[in-house]
Amino acid sequence: MRYTLINPATEEPMETIEHHTVESTDAAIAKAKVAQAKWAALAPADRAKALRDFAAAVDADIENLAKLEVRNSGHPISQARWEATHVRNVLEYYSAAPERLFGKQIPVPGGIDMTFNEPLGVVGVITPWNYPMTIASWGFAPALAAGNAVVLKPAEWTPLTSIRLGELALQSGLPEGLLQVLPGRGSVVGDRLITNPDVRKVVFTGSTAVGKQIMRGAADQIKRVTLELGGKSANVIFADADVAKAAATAPYSVFENAGQDCCARSRLLVQRSVFDEFMEHFEKAVKGVKVGDPTLEETEVGPLVHKVHHDNVSSFLDGANVLFRGSAPEGKGYWFAPTVVQASGLDDRCFTEEIFGPVVTVHAFDDEAEAVQIVNSSEYGLSGSIWTRDIGRGIRVARAVESGNLSVNSHSSVRYWTPFGGFKQSGLGRELGPDAPLHFTEEKNVFIPAD
Ligand code: NAD
Repeated sequence: MRYTLINPATEEPMETIEHHTVESTDAAIAKAKVAQAKWAALAPADRAKALRDFAAAVDADIENLAKLEVRNSGHPISQARWEATHVRNVLEYYSAAPERLFGKQIPVPGGIDMTFNEPLGVVGVITPWNYPMTIASWGFAPALAAGNAVVLKPAEWTPLTSIRLGELALQSGLPEGLLQVLPGRGSVVGDRLITNPDVRKVVFTGSTAVGKQIMRGAADQIKRVTLELGGKSANVIFADADVAKAAATAPYSVFENAGQDCCARSRLLVQRSVFDEFMEHFEKAVKGVKVGDPTLEETEVGPLVHKVHHDNVSSFLDGANVLFRGSAPEGKGYWFAPTVVQASGLDDRCFTEEIFGPVVTVHAFDDEAEAVQIVNSSEYGLSGSIWTRDIGRGIRVARAVESGNLSVNSHSSVRYWTPFGGFKQSGLGRELGPDAPLHFTEEKNVFIPAD
């Protein structure tokens, strides 16, 4: 079956993509199994060199990859360039891992006990459409570094940069079959990665609803899973913060990538005594966000990814108390102006559900205890920011918030050298950081008697 891609900024059809079937997915997994055995048998230094060569091929293709993402996903060119550069950085970082997969020597009577971190075999990586290439690299780079083969299934709407990364892997000299990219439906290719017993781990990034299905399906084979799921993160502004700075940067904590960001701080909690002051600054900042043609260097926010998604995001504004909006182009394209909504209460749908678009819902709080209680009332726990000049409070609140990635007086959330992942229904397991390759191995201990 062929699937037609749509440019979200123009609504024009682009190339059509052949979707894989269950049979072709099985064939790819079988090929990956053969490639993995050879890959794992290579000297660690040779695997490291191959990953550095892959990184160099990505480096030489950054502009092309970025332009593909602009066309396919509507990401602003400057952001898309950052994403492609990030893929190169992730590959370079994990290229050091094959030579550093250290085991342990454990004291035992009568001999020695050593541990080895053995690769799992074939790993399935299933990615969402919001950051196609970066999220793919968080799975495939550490998995390859640990000696596995990878079958990557990109999201239906945004496969182009993943397909290109597969080509670059081959061109750079990575063995055939080691990293295969299989565009296709979630219910076909994605599901087969769960049910085929030769896939030993699945890294899934996507919605919590599908993540639950993946976890249930994986149980049948006790298949390892990493789940990176939805979020409804909070941006908490205390009265003692630099209110002007917090307000000036707040739009970029939620409207970046048109709000299609699992870490989007889409709940804005402001201490009541500075609420009006904050909102005055915030309105100016929101109205200053440059939404428009993603091919232009100055554009900060592009369109939403697809008409179906645009309709879904729009449905949240039915009956919502919209305080103010930024601007967006008229005409063709799935445009959506940055939107600020006042929560009608803590059970307001806009305040509890992941909208995954440029909509932020604001709510006032009275004191620290109430702020923490409101933040933790969500079923999600992925990201969050805390703004205060009191460093003690910053640490206290960060420790109290049930969330995997927090920042104080900053909106930073993802660094490839620090661990990333969620609490509660935002997911299971951690990606990135120095330990990520270990998550693609099984630890084995071997006892050898001394006599
Ligand atoms: P989605 O769950 O609809 O799809 C994600 C991927 O799963 C796609 O490739 C899809 O084809 C596949 N899929 C769908 N059904 C499947 C099935 N039954 N079996 C196997 N695979 C299946 O999510 P989406 O709409 O593409 O992405 C948006 C969601 O992703 C949001 O909830 C967002 O928060 C989340 N997300 C999380 C992170 C994170 O790191 N925590 C990062 C980015 C996005």
